[in-house]
Amino acid sequence: MRIEMPRILLKIALCLATAGLLVAGVKSDDISARAKKLHFSSIVVDTHDDTTQRFLDGKFDIGARHDDGSIDVPRMREGGLDAIFFSIWIPSKVTGPEAVNRAIAQIEAVREQALKHPKELALATTAAEVRAAYKQGKIAALMGVEGGHMINSDLDVLRKFASLGVRYMTLTHSGNDEWADSSTDKPAHNGLTEFGKDVVREMNRLGVMVDISHVSDKTFYDALEISRAPMIASHSSCRALCDVPRNMTDQMMKDLAAKGGVVQINYHVGFLSQEFRDAEKANPEINKAIAQEVQKRCGDNEGCQLIEGDRLTREYVEQGKLPRVDFTKIIEHIDHAVKVAGVDHVGLGSDFDGANMPYGMEDATKLPKITDALLKRGFSEGDVKKILGESTLRVMTEVERVGRELSRQQQK
Ligand SMILES: [Zn+2]
Repeated sequence: MRIEMPRILLKIALCLATAGLLVAGVKSDDISARAKKLHFSSIVVDTHDDTTQRFLDGKFDIGARHDDGSIDVPRMREGGLDAIFFSIWIPSKVTGPEAVNRAIAQIEAVREQALKHPKELALATTAAEVRAAYKQGKIAALMGVEGGHMINSDLDVLRKFASLGVRYMTLTHSGNDEWADSSTDKPAHNGLTEFGKDVVREMNRLGVMVDISHVSDKTFYDALEISRAPMIASHSSCRALCDVPRNMTDQMMKDLAAKGGVVQINYHVGFLSQEFRDAEKANPEINKAIAQEVQKRCGDNEGCQLIEGDRLTREYVEQGKLPRVDFTKIIEHIDHAVKVAGVDHVGLGSDFDGANMPYGMEDATKLPKITDALLKRGFSEGDVKKILGESTLRVMTEVERVGRELSRQQQK
């Protein structure tokens, strides 16, 4: 059914929409001079971006500005994003040698983008290299493997990934691995298997961060017990504010922090807002319809799927069928995590180009708003710097140190 609107109403609607845009425009420019100064003099690190999927069709150029998706060099520059972990991701259902090969193809695609833009991007594998890139005015490009299934239960593959520059691995994605349970699958291993524990030990030795986003609570606690190095949750939010198994409980955040780890807050609306989550649950047909339409538009192109999924979700929000979530929810989650875990244990892991972004955080250009909002909440400048990136750089440094120590011990 198409609703015809009388002309005058249409005009009023257009005026209101324009006024809304103006207000939104004023809002995003309304960042205090202090926030701007702080933001652009801080190293801002994002531990999780799915932009890699866009590299695979060979057409996407990260050096050019795009009007879709959330990440490219011009927009990272505009938003002061200084270091980015490109996610190496394939769905959990792809396993065996195909999973390994596709992961390596993605690693090569990230390296190629960096090599194509040597003035803008610098491949980095350590906190020191991130700082060096920042000093040279370049964006540090790092990599994390999202899903342990990509090593095909073979520690040699893990070592290969590490040698190619991968610096974290999420133990599972949304399905179980052969050696670890996911938070969104039926438990099969009661956490980590014995081999899964060996994977964690080898990651420690290699200086690859153990990432517990996506894993089951039991896998988290098994990994926490085994790991000699602090761990990260590269893109997870607070379960106390939005009850999804993918988010962390207060106790988990406390226990992660007690061993030096960092939770990097995810901006996905379905992990930020209980209201959004409940609406999704109450109307499962919406997600089904979105999935069908995405399939129609994109086929098997996963980069396209992720971006179209975000676009279609927005359309449902605009139609009033799903609740509108504002970027201030990100701030609420950061605030909560800081209260529970401490400011040294909280960072940013957007999930840009892989999830549904809230209003006001559509792309990397909006990042200074986080700094502004945190200052307005009363966070000190030093604490904001930690959240923006210093906490993540600290955990990287510590993981590197533990890796060197374990390698030395092994050589003795
Ligand atoms: Zn994820």
